Amino acid sequence: MTHEDIRAAVRKLCEAYPGPYWRALDRERAYPTEFVAELTRSGFLAALIPQAYGGSGLPLGAAAAILEEIQAAGCNGASCHAQMYVMGTLLRHGSEAQKTHYLPRIASGELRLQAFGVTEPGSGTDTASITTTARREGDRYIIRGRKIWTSRAEQSDLMVLLARTSAVQDGMKRTSGLSVFLVDMHEARGNGLSIDPIRTMMNHATTTIGFDDVPVPAENLIGKEGEGFRYILSGMNAERILIAAECVGDARWFIEKSASYARERVVFGRPIGQNQGIQFPIARAYANMRAASLMVDEALRRFEVDEPCAAEANMAKMLAADASFEAANVAIQTHGGFGFAEDFDIERKFRETRLYQVAPISTNLILSYIAEHVLGLPRSY
Ligand SMILES: Cc1cc2nc3c(=O)[nH]c(=O)nc-3n(C[C@H](O)[C@H](O)[C@H](O)COP(=O)(O)OP(=O)(O)OC[C@H]3O[C@@H](n4cnc5c(N)ncnc54)[C@H](O)[C@@H]3O)c2cc1C
Repeated sequence: MTHEDIRAAVRKLCEAYPGPYWRALDRERAYPTEFVAELTRSGFLAALIPQAYGGSGLPLGAAAAILEEIQAAGCNGASCHAQMYVMGTLLRHGSEAQKTHYLPRIASGELRLQAFGVTEPGSGTDTASITTTARREGDRYIIRGRKIWTSRAEQSDLMVLLARTSAVQDGMKRTSGLSVFLVDMHEARGNGLSIDPIRTMMNHATTTIGFDDVPVPAENLIGKEGEGFRYILSGMNAERILIAAECVGDARWFIEKSASYARERVVFGRPIGQNQGIQFPIARAYANMRAASLMVDEALRRFEVDEPCAAEANMAKMLAADASFEAANVAIQTHGGFGFAEDFDIERKFRETRLYQVAPISTNLILSYIAEHVLGLPRSY
């Protein structure tokens, strides 16, 4: 299957989930269960799982194409995108026994690996300062602490969790002593795990999680104890590239809506799109979307041939998030009052795409990365 075939198949699937479907969910802050189930059934969420474990074994570019098309069709991949990049932690660093046990069941849809517990209320972006601990007790670890913004925790069977297994001693790097675990959400829920939904400005199924001495079998440690920060970091390029692809999809949706409305809407006896004050912002948004898309392509190219791609992944994420938010703003302006009307979906997508200026990494931290690691400027924090 070429990427074009994949894109066409995703577009076709998304036709069954038009604006009214998402609007109804948005009002209730409800999860798009049917949409995610169909994506799973169609195999799209298993695109990156190797064929040996029941997936399609496709490169990251295929996942980017899937997520971009979901957004360009007006749907919201945030309901399920994490499975694409969280699974990479298990794939790259998990033991053969873990991979054989979990990946085929994730590929078939029997298990959902949608939750990623890193951020904590007190840590913010400073991941090394997390205080959730995992204490070894015989053949299990006991987890204690609190996570925030753990998205899709209620719709996930498994969670990849980052916790501290040893305190930072003098002379040690702050990022050492962190470990990654695969947590079975069903077992944990009856054993000290609490989940509280957070209502946000968009429909995002995000939560706060409490671990009150939750036992996790030692065999669920991913990779080596104390190496967790490195494992999480290794998945972040993929995460940034995929979110960037989603933002390109969002920008395409806003631009398409704006251009078609500007062609049709007649005011003062002519289409509003005839006014340069309306067409230039749409044209500029288009140019910026295309430029961001090229950076996504470059990040993907480097990622797929195993070349360093952190700078490109970060730049792609920032440029694409900026392009999608610019296009969202232009769409509201082009639609005038109707941009604010629920029935046009513009305001909903506007709220949804705003997130990517902040999560999974904020623009400031990307700029800091470029300043420090590309330009050789002093670290600012
Ligand atoms: C809807 C939603 C879903 C999310 N889903 C997940 C999830 O599934 N799993 C998960 O682990 N996390 C998740 N997150 C968390 C997300 O990754 C963080 O919100 C994000 O990394 C920013 O962290 P923070 O909110 O603590 O902001 P802070 O770190 O408190 O930062 C606040 C502001 O200060 C700025 N800032 C901080 N430090 C610096 C600095 N040194 N220089 C310049 N500016 C700085 C930031 O750019 C930001 O604008 C989610 C967040 C949201 C809102």
